[in-house]
Amino acid sequence: MTLTSDAVPRVAGSKESTGLTGEPPIIALSNIFKSYRMGGADVMAAQGISLTVAKGEFVAIMGASGSGKSTLMNIIGCLDVPTSGHYHLDGVNIRSLDDRAISRIRNRKIGFVFQGFNLIPRMSALQNVELPMAYAGIKPAERRQRAIVALSLVGLSERLEHFSSELSGGQQQRVAIARAIGTNPALILADEPTGNLDTKSSFELMTIFTNLHAYGRTIVMITHEHDVAQYASRVVELRDGMIISDHVQRAFAPASSRLGQSGTSMIDANSSGD
Ligand code: ADP
Ligand code: MG
Repeated sequence: MTLTSDAVPRVAGSKESTGLTGEPPIIALSNIFKSYRMGGADVMAAQGISLTVAKGEFVAIMGASGSGKSTLMNIIGCLDVPTSGHYHLDGVNIRSLDDRAISRIRNRKIGFVFQGFNLIPRMSALQNVELPMAYAGIKPAERRQRAIVALSLVGLSERLEHFSSELSGGQQQRVAIARAIGTNPALILADEPTGNLDTKSSFELMTIFTNLHAYGRTIVMITHEHDVAQYASRVVELRDGMIISDHVQRAFAPASSRLGQSGTSMIDANSSGD
């Protein structure tokens, strides 16, 4: 099975070239400021953040509580707009879009994985994975096929019809990853994905992220745990709404893999056609 980009039309927008390949970076944040009004005073949650993430990177964003991680995540995820500065997502200038266009681009370009899983309890694993594909306009038969492949990739082919409320935390988070990759997004954005998981489930989850990264997927993951960040290929550290360090590292490679050979086109960013 191949996943062509035909079912997920590209959103028109200005292109920003990165150079030789002519491909835009997945994320280009330029001098981003964000302030919140709190009891008559302005809280500066982002203070001049510039960050470029290329296709295929696996970036961990770290920082103490209050350092601005969620603020940055919300801006990258098009859930909030910066007070000033520019953001291009996969070549599209977010500032040029209205609310409807922003929610469309969010749905088509980003697969979210949240700390609290955010699955719908009285829906099966399959239905949960199909939901964002429905919003993206993918036809029912194609949705079903993609959802089955995605759930197999995360080792849940035996749990397709289970309600998410019948699954363990680790299994729920794997459904969330299947949901995130089902639309074949440009970016997987994860907010403390292991925050509610035990050590073993965290390891299984990071093994899945590692495999997605190996197949060329672009991942941005917020975490405050160093042993989770070691799976990333790059670590960006925030303090007081500013980037205080940004370094590339050799990503930790787990010994075992949950992902089988079938349906690798879904995780293979280079065969996805986008
Ligand atoms: P982190 O996720 O790293 O803990 P946040 O981005 O949530 O950091 O917060 C950064 C700063 O912005 C903190 O000082 C926080 O209190 C403030 N802040 C975040 N969201 C809001 C909000 N909606 N209203 C007011 N202040 C906020
Ligand atoms: Mg936070």
